[in-house]
Amino acid sequence: MIELRTPSEIVELQTAGAFVGRVLEATRDAAAVGVNTLELDALAHDMIRAEGAESCYIDYHPSFGASPFGKVICISVNDAVLHGLPHDYVLQDGDLVSLDFAASVNGWVSDSALSIVVGTPRPEDLKIIELTEVALAAGIAAATVGNKIGDISAAIGDVAHASRIKVNMDFGGHGVGRVMHGDPHIPNDGRAHRGLPLRAGLVFAVEPWFMLGTDKIYTDADGWTLRSRDGSRGAHSEHTIAITEDGPLVLSARSS
Ligand code: MG
Repeated sequence: MIELRTPSEIVELQTAGAFVGRVLEATRDAAAVGVNTLELDALAHDMIRAEGAESCYIDYHPSFGASPFGKVICISVNDAVLHGLPHDYVLQDGDLVSLDFAASVNGWVSDSALSIVVGTPRPEDLKIIELTEVALAAGIAAATVGNKIGDISAAIGDVAHASRIKVNMDFGGHGVGRVMHGDPHIPNDGRAHRGLPLRAGLVFAVEPWFMLGTDKIYTDADGWTLRSRDGSRGAHSEHTIAITEDGPLVLSARSS
């Protein structure tokens, strides 16, 4: 079901987005060579408790998950690209780390993700991160009243195709509101001028994620973490946005 949010509800969603942005900043800044990913999860969990927020992940148990997620942040390292379940793993020099975080504040959800390299980066890793950031910006720029969902998908896909990146279509953007995942679905590739017309009050996550060598994934033995089938590394950039008459509003904006 597609739901439209009122301006006052969008203010509430912006509050949730600001919190999600702060948690991503804190976990990003704490991520470094020698840090255990469980420490980053604990940091996010402490911030959730201090805020009186609720994790969207800890009890999350969709059909594709082996069991409830049990952690509050997805940390996907190197060939892990989505839904990375934090493990007892110490970050190594050059690791490509994607942080994906969603929480509910006063009953309203926001969902956002970013990728970084800890230590000395490989040039191709910086490139794949940048591509997801450029694709996210392009997708958001296309999220205007009068456009359609397909315009967002095409804008994201065009960035990938220009760099010969193949796009996985299994997971993409999604409606965000009282819960983390709702309609509409926003594929990371598609045809312009097709699909749902964009109206003021629509709130959804836009989340390009690309892998360097493939569009195929498999599920790790942990039942959650999705890895590239060829072992190549991936990156992920996501914001929750609202469509307004004045253009797209990034609800999960970070100050840095
Ligand atoms: Mg997310």
